[in-house]
Amino acid sequence: MAKLLKKSKVYCVIGGPGAGKGTTGKKLASECGLTHFSTGELLRKEIQGETETGQKVKAAVDRGELVPTPTVIQLLKENMIKEAATSKGFIIDGYPRDVAQCTLFEKEIAPIIKVIHLKATDDTMKARSLERAATEGRSDDTEEVIAARIATHNMNLKPITEYCTKKKKLVEIDAEAEPEEVFSQCKIAIEKKK
Ligand code: AMP
Repeated sequence: MAKLLKKSKVYCVIGGPGAGKGTTGKKLASECGLTHFSTGELLRKEIQGETETGQKVKAAVDRGELVPTPTVIQLLKENMIKEAATSKGFIIDGYPRDVAQCTLFEKEIAPIIKVIHLKATDDTMKARSLERAATEGRSDDTEEVIAARIATHNMNLKPITEYCTKKKKLVEIDAEAEPEEVFSQCKIAIEKKK
């Protein structure tokens, strides 16, 4: 475990494309005084910065597939360490995508207190991602890549949610509800002791 981070409070937000991970994660961080990271955003920054890592991850992101876990862990670790001295805890959205990501994070970085799953139907994920495509211009918000991202999400979902349930970390939230309601359910989950 990373020495500087092993006592950090870490909460994760997972869900398919368009489920609201980013919006909810940012708001939770600002209202709960936590530091927010999105693995998708960290990866997109690497791609934009045309770094060596960026070139390697672009192909996977553009296909709607998962980037190799060691790359994601490395990016998270570097960024979290920079904030460790002043952070009261972290909200990480988009992570863990699968069981291996969860176990590796806990081995190399810090224990994860809770994993909040924002649950939405395929139709909602698709509609919201397409809506966002019109304003944000993400290269992976095309109809074809959105479908691949939903498929990747659905393929990995059952094992990771079962694992987190077993470890008593999972909180399921209905992401079909109004954003305010989704946010307030997430906040309750974070503030609840165990
Ligand atoms: P998101 O911003 O969460 O929709 O993620 C956008 C894309 O970034 C995904 O389709 C993946 O290609 C990649 N990605 C984001 N988070 C992860 C992660 N934890 N592990 C692997 N790939 C990721």
